[in-house]
Amino acid sequence: MAKSPEEEHSQKAFGWAARDSSGILSPFRFSRRENADDDVTIKVLFCGVCHSDLHSAKNEWGFTNFPVVPGHEIVGVVTNTGNNVEKFKVGDRVGVGVIVGSCMKCDTCQEDLENYCPQVIYTYNSQHHDHDRTKTYGGYSDMIVVHHRYVLRFPDNLPPDAGAPLLCAGITAYSPMKYYGMTEPGKHLGVAGLGGLGHITVKIGKAFGLKVTVISSSPAKEDEAIKTLGADSFLLSSDPAKLKEAMGSMDYIIDTVSAVHALAPLIGLLKLNGKLVTVGLPDKPLELPIFPLVLGRKLVGGSDIGGMKETQEMLDFCAKHNITSDIELIRMDYINTAMERLAKSDVRYRFVIDVANSLT
Ligand code: NAP
Ligand code: ZN
Repeated sequence: MAKSPEEEHSQKAFGWAARDSSGILSPFRFSRRENADDDVTIKVLFCGVCHSDLHSAKNEWGFTNFPVVPGHEIVGVVTNTGNNVEKFKVGDRVGVGVIVGSCMKCDTCQEDLENYCPQVIYTYNSQHHDHDRTKTYGGYSDMIVVHHRYVLRFPDNLPPDAGAPLLCAGITAYSPMKYYGMTEPGKHLGVAGLGGLGHITVKIGKAFGLKVTVISSSPAKEDEAIKTLGADSFLLSSDPAKLKEAMGSMDYIIDTVSAVHALAPLIGLLKLNGKLVTVGLPDKPLELPIFPLVLGRKLVGGSDIGGMKETQEMLDFCAKHNITSDIELIRMDYINTAMERLAKSDVRYRFVIDVANSLT
């Protein structure tokens, strides 16, 4: 008979899990593997609440294997290292993002694109093929054991709470900008959806010297977008007159919207040769109008987080440019309310759980 999550491994662990598609989280006892030669054991300090955690807790994508302990924006402190680990020592502040494993052998892994490896292991709701096929559990928990390749140095000048969201939201914004060539200073970037990903995309875009326009469905976010987050302008997606005025004005758009929405207005905002990169993951397909793409030689692409090397580069870039997330720091027992608010786009702009001080 399969062992219970609490008995699978030698190290006792404690976190909060969703047990079914209600998505409601509650305390959960489980276990973590013994720290092996290549491993780093981390005491979790803070963990960001990504919309992917909500999609997963509610099984909106249809592949959640309950119980699920979400959380892939983890900042913590090293408490143990294996014999083969040279990069980290006990006491170091480190980060763990969306992935904790990959095959390490394929071309994709050799090119530092572990995030696209066919055998990628996600930080939660995934299965370890490199150890014993047990499930992965994320950062809404007291500790985690991770192969050192997937552990990041967390720069000293980044705050561990407001820096945590960089581990998913930060790299998800940074990677497509680099890959799709969306960093030319002075070019015009549209950011669709001003949530966790969106607000960091604004900040990274400004650090690259872009002109940034927020495209949002929330009129209440206009002031903050410009005054606090540093965007140059704000476009309300429900205002057809304003949208019309802005048609053909943007070089690039990063679409972070988490729900089904129309792509046609976004494609219309692009200039000739403009690029629209979607990173949001709505639970149903979006309709893609072909005529405006063809007639404007426009490009639509996607992007999934980033590899470990690029994630480290992004953390160092954010440390250099003082880019952190605007956060609402919460206790673990606020998580169900936080999830309800996240579903309503009611967060400024990322919930971060003070795990070490509130996990009970
Ligand atoms: P979030 O904080 O909830 O932000 C999403 C934003 O989308 C909201 O703040 C809202 O912005 C807009 N939005 C939500 N519902 C909408 C609707 N019905 N119509 C129009 N706009 C709507 O979520 P997040 O954590 O940034 O994540 C965003 C999406 O990216 C999620 O689907 C998540 O799973 C996905 N994701 C992808 C990757 C990747 O690697 N590709 C990584 C992380 C997350 P406004 O209020 O401004 O309209
Ligand atoms: Zn995420």
